[in-house]
Amino acid sequence: MRYISTRGQAPVLGFEEAMLSGLARDGGLYVPETWPTLGREEIAAFAGLPYEEVAFRVMRPFVGDAFTDTEFRGIIDRAYAGFGHAARCPLVQLDANHFLLELFHGPTLAFKDVAMQLIGQMFQVSLGRSGRRVTIVGATSGDTGSAAIEAFRGLEAVDVFIMYPHGRVSDVQRRQMTTVPDANVHALAIDGDFDDCQARLKDMFNHHAFRDEMGLAGVNSINWARVLAQVVYFFTSAVALGAPHRPVRFTVPTGNFGDIFAGYVARRMGLPVERLAIATNQNDILHRTLQSGAHVKEGVVPSISPSMDIQVSSNFERLLFDLYDRDAQEIARLMAALGQAGGFELSPAALAQLREGFASGRASEEETADAIRATLSRSAELLCPHSAVGVKVAEEQPASAAPMITLATAHPAKFPDAVEAATGIRPALPQRMADLFDRPERLTRLPNDLAAIENFVSGNRR
Ligand SMILES: *Cc1c(COP(=O)(O)O)cnc(C)c1O
Repeated sequence: MRYISTRGQAPVLGFEEAMLSGLARDGGLYVPETWPTLGREEIAAFAGLPYEEVAFRVMRPFVGDAFTDTEFRGIIDRAYAGFGHAARCPLVQLDANHFLLELFHGPTLAFKDVAMQLIGQMFQVSLGRSGRRVTIVGATSGDTGSAAIEAFRGLEAVDVFIMYPHGRVSDVQRRQMTTVPDANVHALAIDGDFDDCQARLKDMFNHHAFRDEMGLAGVNSINWARVLAQVVYFFTSAVALGAPHRPVRFTVPTGNFGDIFAGYVARRMGLPVERLAIATNQNDILHRTLQSGAHVKEGVVPSISPSMDIQVSSNFERLLFDLYDRDAQEIARLMAALGQAGGFELSPAALAQLREGFASGRASEEETADAIRATLSRSAELLCPHSAVGVKVAEEQPASAAPMITLATAHPAKFPDAVEAATGIRPALPQRMADLFDRPERLTRLPNDLAAIENFVSGNRR
């Protein structure tokens, strides 16, 4: 399988190189040259298999010859061995036809672990083989950073630098990044919001001399391997509820559009997904795009679902690429307009296609809290605020015979203040991280300035 950039000006790469580099050199995102498909029989045969086996079968066509089958099975097994649930990503029933897909049983209690643990194992095998070193830099609105740190801590061939917006992540999120003692891990508190962190990350990758000298590798949700890992649970959950014999629907709490794009990939591969609903909080650029056809940035307003507080959804570019029939020149033009003019209008054809496959909704702060409270009283489930945004939007979708699966993206204990404010219940951390608030913190505060950040990275690699 070969990977091409959405902007058409970067070298075509194999899976391993696309994984190690993250962002393409022309500022675009890597996508597979074609979408592999699975037959109805192949999908039906997933029923009853362990998560790891389905993961192997779904991801294999994308990985090509980057790993032998034995290597790849080992990678998958090690990635999920530390999960706190035997099913890895279990389903819970909320209502007659509404299910919750729990994606938070990994080491940092958010769905990011599902992909990041896998990537950590892939990097280890790949770098071990080549003797290369890499410097991982990441930007996080909270959950990616800790997931990356957990996945790469202590690895000999990797240094990790994670930028997060100072003062805008929860205490649990921050402590998960700042209390890791390994010398190859650096948590950087940037004076700015998540979009600033993400912009500096892109600047670093577009500074090719620095990128090459440091051996930069990106593991943000724009990394193709992350999206790929997330495709798996769309299959496992859909098959558990009767696919491919009946269609299913998904609602995905959305920020950077990585998770829901994985659902789109599952559909392209042949999974019968009737509708994918994009659930946003008050930072609702994607909901506005579906409503009006105009994709226009607005400032970020901090919310109780901070991992979705963004104004630009990077992975949306991958969907646009398909909506515009893979016209890379057109995508480069749209992205330039987004950067310079702050937005663009979708073409009528692209908008029509978008609305055919996707629905959208938004939840205000109050509606999010209401959904946490209502779900607790109706179904005895305590939701994190992100998952609550999803449940609220799922419940307002038109009735259908197809089961609705809402992705539960984080454990409620990761956002205890919001959950307590809504319900009066303060969710406890799982036993394995009960001492999180007693561990010493280690972080570096830096201005929102490329040179300062680059200096720190080059001076602190091992
Ligand atoms: C990252 C994150 C999201 C948003 O996922 P995207 O792939 O960026 O759309 C939602 N909820 C939680 C808890 C997250 O950590």
